[in-house]
Amino acid sequence: HLRLSQPSALPQYSALARLLSTLAVLEQKDGKLINTSLAAVSAGQKLGGSVTAFLAGSGVKAVADEAAKVKGIEKIIYVENGAYDKGLPENYAPLLVENIKKGGFTHVLASHSAFGKNIMPRVAALLDTQQLSDVTEIQSEDTFVRPIYAGNAILTVQSTDDIKIITVRGTGFPTPETEGGSAAVEEGADPKAECQTEWVSEDLAKSDRPDLSSAEKVVSGGRGLKSKEEFDRLMPPLADALGAAIGASRAAVDSGFADNSLQVGQTGKNVAPQLYLCAGISGAIQHLAGMKDSKVIAAINKDGDAPIFQVADVGLVGDLFEKVPELTEKLKAQ
Ligand code: FAD
Repeated sequence: HLRLSQPSALPQYSALARLLSTLAVLEQKDGKLINTSLAAVSAGQKLGGSVTAFLAGSGVKAVADEAAKVKGIEKIIYVENGAYDKGLPENYAPLLVENIKKGGFTHVLASHSAFGKNIMPRVAALLDTQQLSDVTEIQSEDTFVRPIYAGNAILTVQSTDDIKIITVRGTGFPTPETEGGSAAVEEGADPKAECQTEWVSEDLAKSDRPDLSSAEKVVSGGRGLKSKEEFDRLMPPLADALGAAIGASRAAVDSGFADNSLQVGQTGKNVAPQLYLCAGISGAIQHLAGMKDSKVIAAINKDGDAPIFQVADVGLVGDLFEKVPELTEKLKAQ
């Protein structure tokens, strides 16, 4: 004899579920929303419950108004204070903690960017919880998937912490639509924590090319290019012909062929463009860790047994010094 459980069981459960609320920490630079940080919003939507976004810095009210149009955000909390412009963890972490406590959030998400990696461990420490890094999949409100050992093993972790502090890999959570939303915009609490660290300066590589982390197309060069001269002779024209950003393997960066900021991989940038075209890269696991989620992977390598061909959708076995200029010319002629 079967009997339905008490009618009150279901409403009780949904009342519990409604308690789940996410704070998605967004990034801004010079008054502009950094779109890749919106991965925290997409991940928050996966969790269910409401998603509140957070922004801090000088002139962020305007950024908050812009972010209010992003689909899936219920509310935006902003704190106007130039002290938070550079994302120094010493004062940004206490700022977040204050607003997390005030809002009673159960999950706090940020992108696994330099900013997120810098801030979130400190937030977790202040809240006496464990941080979950580089999450690529959300299975439920307490179970998360993340790669370890440069993507060689995939870990499924369950957290019993009351507040979950998480960084998410951008390539795992596509950017939400940036139009059509209508979030409420509200001022947050500013504890004005003392900061012992002072921002002195930054020296950023300037480029007219698309940003490597968010480019639709990336061309990447490795040790096979032999020298900086050859890298500079072959890669920029190929990138220009495709409208692509330039990336490099760590071997190419360590050999001085390319700037450090161009490194793709475990200890470099994570990219997942529509097209990742690489030349003279063997496909070491640490390199694959940063690009294997690309939609189409094309590789040029003279060694037909190079591991890159195991992940490549399109492979060309040949001498890059011949094939890259040939391809560049063909693309330019299109
Ligand atoms: P190689 O492995 O030397 O490959 C060169 C390739 O070029 C070869 O396959 C060769 O066949 C081909 N080639 C040579 N000449 C030609 C030609 N004329 N035409 C066509 N093909 C040619 N690596 C990263 O890239 N990113 C990281 O973030 C990263 N992090 C790391 C972290 C740790 C902790 C460790 C231990 C390593 C890390 N590495 C990283 C290094 C990684 O293990 C490899 O050493 C590196 O990726 C190799 O770079 P490569 O493919 O350019 O060079």
